[in-house]
Amino acid sequence: MASSFIVLLGPPGAGKGTQAEVLTDKLGLPHISSGDIFRENLKKQTELGQKAQVYMNRGELVPDDLTIAMIHERLSQPDAARGAILDGFPRTPAQAEALAKMLGEMGGQVKVVPYIAVPDQELIERLSGRWTCRSGGHVYHEKNNPPKVAGKCDVDGSVLYQREDDRPETVSNRIRVYSQQTAPLIEYYHSHGLLAEVDGTKPISQVTDEMLKTVQEHLK
Ligand code: ADP
Ligand code: ADP
Repeated sequence: MASSFIVLLGPPGAGKGTQAEVLTDKLGLPHISSGDIFRENLKKQTELGQKAQVYMNRGELVPDDLTIAMIHERLSQPDAARGAILDGFPRTPAQAEALAKMLGEMGGQVKVVPYIAVPDQELIERLSGRWTCRSGGHVYHEKNNPPKVAGKCDVDGSVLYQREDDRPETVSNRIRVYSQQTAPLIEYYHSHGLLAEVDGTKPISQVTDEMLKTVQEHLK
């Protein structure tokens, strides 16, 4: 059977990472987050990390060629052979075209694109209260989804921190970049019959239920 890829689409702070953590457990597919891979490279100060840093700090997109090469490398790992949950990639039409080509060569395909819709005002509130785990990238919110012990990840006990690019000045730029460069993918995937809009303003567990239902229907 062709391997199944799920692309999570939505503005910064919509809940892609939060939902991907649940989907990865339920579906047994790896969670591939382009943002996490960039941050990992930044931490290790690799050449890619150094190149990406300038863009990430400004809340801009890392250029397509670097991003596509990085995802190509990640999708070539054995754990992605059956499929994956893609979180944060693609973010431009050129990345979406490159993904379709890569998956075609691997004998895989995008099966469904859940689009998590959340209004801008709510995104700012979510990102300013987001706390991220240093080692595994697990995400919390100081009010909406607090960790059991303040400052510590429930999953792996590592320290939680606030991302540099979650400051209000950078967040408004990220939302603008999303509207200009990523939002056209809503129409792109809709025209391919793959888009499944989910109301992202509901509580986390309700978004999960709605998402699992649509995803499972598309994977049948
Ligand atoms: P968010 O929480 O907003 O979804 P991410 O963790 O996915 O943020 O991404 C953080 C930053 O990493 C982005 O602002 C961008 O600079 C870079 N980035 C992540 N994915 C991509 C991508 N597919 N294309 C270009 N840049 C990306
Ligand atoms: P993204 O990966 O799309 O940038 P995250 O999953 O990191 O988004 O979520 C952004 C912030 O919003 C986090 O602090 C998270 O705990 C919180 N959050 C996620 N989903 C919801 C929801 N349905 N309702 C309220 N807060 C949420």
